[in-house]
Amino acid sequence: MEFKQGDRVRIEKNGTVYEGKVMPSMEGYITIKMNSGYNAGFSMDKVKITLLENNGESTNGSLNGGKESKEAGEEIPKPGKKLPKVAILSTGGTIASKIDYRTGAVTSQFTADDILTAIPELREIADFKGRVISSILSENMDSESWQNLARAVVEEIEAGVDGIIVTHGTDTMMYTAAALSFMIDTPVPIVLVGSQRSADRPSSDNAMNAICAALVAVSDIAEVSVVMHGTTSDDFCEIHRGTKVRKMHTSLRDAFKSVNSLPIGIVDYDTREIKTFIDYTKRGEKTLKFKPGMESKCALVKFTPGSDPSILDCYINGGYKGLVLEGTGLGHVSTKWIPMVRKAVNAKMPVMVTSQCLNGRICDRVYDTGRDMLKAGAIEGEDTLPETALVKLMWVLGQTDEFDEAIEMLREDLSGEITKCCFK
Ligand code: ASP
Repeated sequence: MEFKQGDRVRIEKNGTVYEGKVMPSMEGYITIKMNSGYNAGFSMDKVKITLLENNGESTNGSLNGGKESKEAGEEIPKPGKKLPKVAILSTGGTIASKIDYRTGAVTSQFTADDILTAIPELREIADFKGRVISSILSENMDSESWQNLARAVVEEIEAGVDGIIVTHGTDTMMYTAAALSFMIDTPVPIVLVGSQRSADRPSSDNAMNAICAALVAVSDIAEVSVVMHGTTSDDFCEIHRGTKVRKMHTSLRDAFKSVNSLPIGIVDYDTREIKTFIDYTKRGEKTLKFKPGMESKCALVKFTPGSDPSILDCYINGGYKGLVLEGTGLGHVSTKWIPMVRKAVNAKMPVMVTSQCLNGRICDRVYDTGRDMLKAGAIEGEDTLPETALVKLMWVLGQTDEFDEAIEMLREDLSGEITKCCFK
């Protein structure tokens, strides 16, 4: 019997049963995408295959409540009711990529419209318009790109959309999320989404992430958030606050985690419901405000045992305007680094201390190296992530040239980056 792409089948091999949807397969082999989201390939002559569902028409009952993705190219249902308007701004990254079989490398080739064609369910959630901002891998983003993107987001909100989705590479998504968080006061959701595996890979996470992102974009969570797989399975996505999120794994689908905070909530992929865990800014609570300006001459410097403090001199003499230090534990550098920290502060460069532990809060009052650092003029980043602290510093120095004002702003919680809490 022939099986078509999209057919749902049951495969029995050595007493084990696998069920899933037929994917593009090599001759003599059958590859299926299982409910877990992972694919499995079998040699056709070594297994028993039963057809369960013929490309949409059930022959043996629906296995997943009829929630399976429709194939690209299928007729897209016309929405019966008026749907919210969402703009998809594509910047590139894996979610917009496929393998170039000539070079074997993954390159960004899809636009927002291609994503809509590939994932037709999106059109049941909102009325989308696509806009290409760039087609780059996110390691190529910089503070200019963040500002161009922020400008485009603001234009779309001014034009009346109810939500924004930004498709983005995962590697630096947290920097962009933080940058948008500081630059925009938003009355509507701004959702960043990416995928760890490109659309043409069997275990791609792009469809589920994009669908979850769309559900958040039409929700009442009017914050900059990152929406990505919550586990390695296709069960739910997490909604992370843009200033509290970090990519914590190179390749797993649930690479993104909220640090020093619970996620804002989750999107159940099966029921399509959103459940929230912490307070968040609601739709319409804030008035749209665009505050561009980023000082790119800022650096994030990791302290390591025995490292030469003259590294800081390179920044001080190199025209840098501010530094974030990633210190050890509660926020330390060695005694040898302290004079250099003082030199930076005396040169009117704000120095903010964060921790390589990532989890927990800075407290420079416990050990003498910490107290010396505070005496030298460094400020504590509290429980801010180092990357978020860097973006905050860049943004603050893009807003003011006044050292004292900058220090005051850096100490404040500006966009959810500092959790108000006792030391943990
Ligand atoms: N290097 C890619 C990027 O960040 C990885 C990804 O998209 O997941 O653009």
